Amino acid sequence: MKNDTKRLLEWYDAERRILPWREDPTPYHVWVSEIMLQQTRVEAVKEYYARFLEKLPDVAALAAAEEDTYLKLWEGLGYYSRVRNLHKAAVTVMEEYGGVIPGTAKELRKLSGIGEYTAAAIASIAFGEPVSSVDGNLLRVYARRELYRESIKEPVAKKLAYDYYMERMPEDRPGDYNQALMDLGATVCLPNGEPECFRCPWADLCEAHKQGVETEVPVVPTKKARRVEYRTVFRVHCGEDLLLARRPDTGLLAGLYEFPNALLTENSKLSKKEQTERSAAALETFLKTSGLTPLSTFPLPTAKHIFSHVEWRMTGFDLEVESLNPVREQALSPEGHELLVTSLSDLDRYSIPNAFDAYKY
Ligand code: SF4
Repeated sequence: MKNDTKRLLEWYDAERRILPWREDPTPYHVWVSEIMLQQTRVEAVKEYYARFLEKLPDVAALAAAEEDTYLKLWEGLGYYSRVRNLHKAAVTVMEEYGGVIPGTAKELRKLSGIGEYTAAAIASIAFGEPVSSVDGNLLRVYARRELYRESIKEPVAKKLAYDYYMERMPEDRPGDYNQALMDLGATVCLPNGEPECFRCPWADLCEAHKQGVETEVPVVPTKKARRVEYRTVFRVHCGEDLLLARRPDTGLLAGLYEFPNALLTENSKLSKKEQTERSAAALETFLKTSGLTPLSTFPLPTAKHIFSHVEWRMTGFDLEVESLNPVREQALSPEGHELLVTSLSDLDRYSIPNAFDAYKY
């Protein structure tokens, strides 16, 4: 074992993060946690992970689960395609692998939602396969340690980092090696601001640290600006009944439920006055097309929600209507999404994304 690997593992043994999925790293546990951890902070995942496993403790339970069940368990985590793929892959494991999660990165990659990184993480942690799981953390550590000054977004950077870590991969502890690097990246070689090199087991080996240029690497090209969409949200109710819409099966927030809403504009900045005027016009159009008659209307606060490629800036109206009958048959939301009437007591059954938190009851 290379000396720097030995040092890293000793550091890991002393400093590793205690995480629920590490306590019993079965393939299913590692898989679920890795999927949840994509795009979500460790602290936020803990609670979701416990809830998910309590309800769906193994791959058979997940494969047999109804869509509403697993979507509800994912509510708040966002990026719902992750859980859809997780479910799809669980069905494949049951149907094509006899209920046994495959044990190599190569086989794991054939399952929905499992990319190169996740396959390597599961294979190394749960099955002990010596394969490096290069993610953003590992790329950053590599770029700093070797003072790699090219963009880490290019595939060649990943390949170089992969080879670099594979050269140092310990045969007997591949999972711990990958997790040590993940921990190093997440807790010491920090992504934003100054890394805490004084706590790093590789400080004397690190080129960026030796030259005092830790914050100059990794090189990451600036991202394209997010598209901004202005929307008006309609919270429509009649007594205990209220109106929801179901989003289409593909695209942003696919298959989830929402308060009906209208797109006011995208790509052009609206002043507060313009936003108010367009919202009022959208309300008028909505009432006309839906046939709903309001008994009372009052404005709701503005809210903002940021997705990876788009930002919603919202205004809203609370509408108490005379009856919801006009929309029970065939009406669509302003966005063309299927409307449905439910009751306040049943609201919990529907997965409504966090984007609508400001308008939830
Ligand atoms: S010495 Fe500092 S910059 Fe280099 S790998 Fe360690 S934490 Fe990162």
